[in-house]
Amino acid sequence: MNDILPGEVETWQFLEQSAREIFEIYGFSEIRTPVPEKTELFCRSIGETTDIVEKEMYTFADKSQNSMTLRPEGTAPVMRALIQNRLYNQDSVTKLYYLGPMFRYERPQKGRYRQFHQLGAEVLGVEDPKIDTQVLAMLHHYFRSIGIDSVSLQINSLGCPQCRPAYREILVAYLESRLAALCPECQRRYLVNPLRVLDCKVPGCREATTDAPAMIEHLCADCETHFSQVQKHLVALEIPFEVNSRMVRGLDYYVRTTFELVTDQLGSQNAVAAGGRYDGLVEGLGGPALPGIGFAIGLERLVLLKGSEKIAPRVPVVFIAALGDAAVDPAFVLMSQLQAAGVRAEMDYQSKSLKAQLRRANKLNARYSLVLGDEEIASGQAQLKNMADGTQTPVSLAGLVDLLVEKNS
Ligand code: ATP
Ligand code: MG
Repeated sequence: MNDILPGEVETWQFLEQSAREIFEIYGFSEIRTPVPEKTELFCRSIGETTDIVEKEMYTFADKSQNSMTLRPEGTAPVMRALIQNRLYNQDSVTKLYYLGPMFRYERPQKGRYRQFHQLGAEVLGVEDPKIDTQVLAMLHHYFRSIGIDSVSLQINSLGCPQCRPAYREILVAYLESRLAALCPECQRRYLVNPLRVLDCKVPGCREATTDAPAMIEHLCADCETHFSQVQKHLVALEIPFEVNSRMVRGLDYYVRTTFELVTDQLGSQNAVAAGGRYDGLVEGLGGPALPGIGFAIGLERLVLLKGSEKIAPRVPVVFIAALGDAAVDPAFVLMSQLQAAGVRAEMDYQSKSLKAQLRRANKLNARYSLVLGDEEIASGQAQLKNMADGTQTPVSLAGLVDLLVEKNS
């Protein structure tokens, strides 16, 4: 778990602010749900045989012996809130986004932490493939706006309850024929969750399953049409993508369209964003039969990608250097007036020498400095120094707030 410190938090704020602006263009509203939820919510939605539920959840008993879990992902809590508050009654489409910490007890490594942050969006109520494409278009727009072009979009279809069971049997039969070559984990899970074997990162499992049957070759007619429509609309919007028939995603609720934004710059933690359709989820959690689709972006990985080009921290517009007892209190009032008017202003509180104060002004990268001594206070006049080029401009202290508000705008 990481502290996010000044110097790096500016990058986070930039990524978050851009997301709010762009998601709102597409009609999404923010939703904030509690960090802990009843454990049962995640077992029912994510699936008992997934990595998350099997081994990654932060689960504890509260004082009334209810089993609670720190949310490992955002979709299930948002669906719980949607159902509980009947948010779907307001319009035929519900578009929500969220942003916040998630918790998974994983082996920490670069790009993988135990508290991490996701920025996600969900659309409820539309089965039309245009909405799948719109969600992908919004992701594409967001990555373009934050200046990250080193990611590529991979899509797949996982079929639906009509066509997946038959495919599953074909896959199980195929895996049975290669069982000896699979890792112990896959040998254990190939019957309960055969699709996960395709997602296994162990090289031996990859090699043994290179010619595995793919879901997209066994889609029912409806899923086939849905998937080809998504692609047709992506082409129309000129959004580049690639079909990756091995991509399965680690959560059980996905059906039909699934996708990942991957990068080759973060080693094996290559998925920066991931998502898909979850048409049965809301009903499975006791709500109405609403189709849904969504994604989550891993913010830590986004920050790592953005990494080298740090967002510049905010600097003071003016640093006031007060000299002598008579000047300190008026300087403090002036600084406070500037701040109240929206101008970033700083001063020194330790009665340091002029040299030391100006050194600090330099270090803080202040745009201007203003030296206030007895004489300046008495005359109401001072010199405003531009720290970049050293030029000085005479200013009246009475007009300083207005002047700097103007320069700052
Ligand atoms: P992975 O295959 O990397 O474990 P996942 O399938 O568990 O990913 P999702 O649950 O779909 O991932 O989460 C979506 C995104 O959240 C991921 O693509 C990733 O960017 C980010 N993410 C997931 N787990 C972590 C973690 N432990 N630390 C940091 N980011 C994470
Ligand atoms: Mg994972």
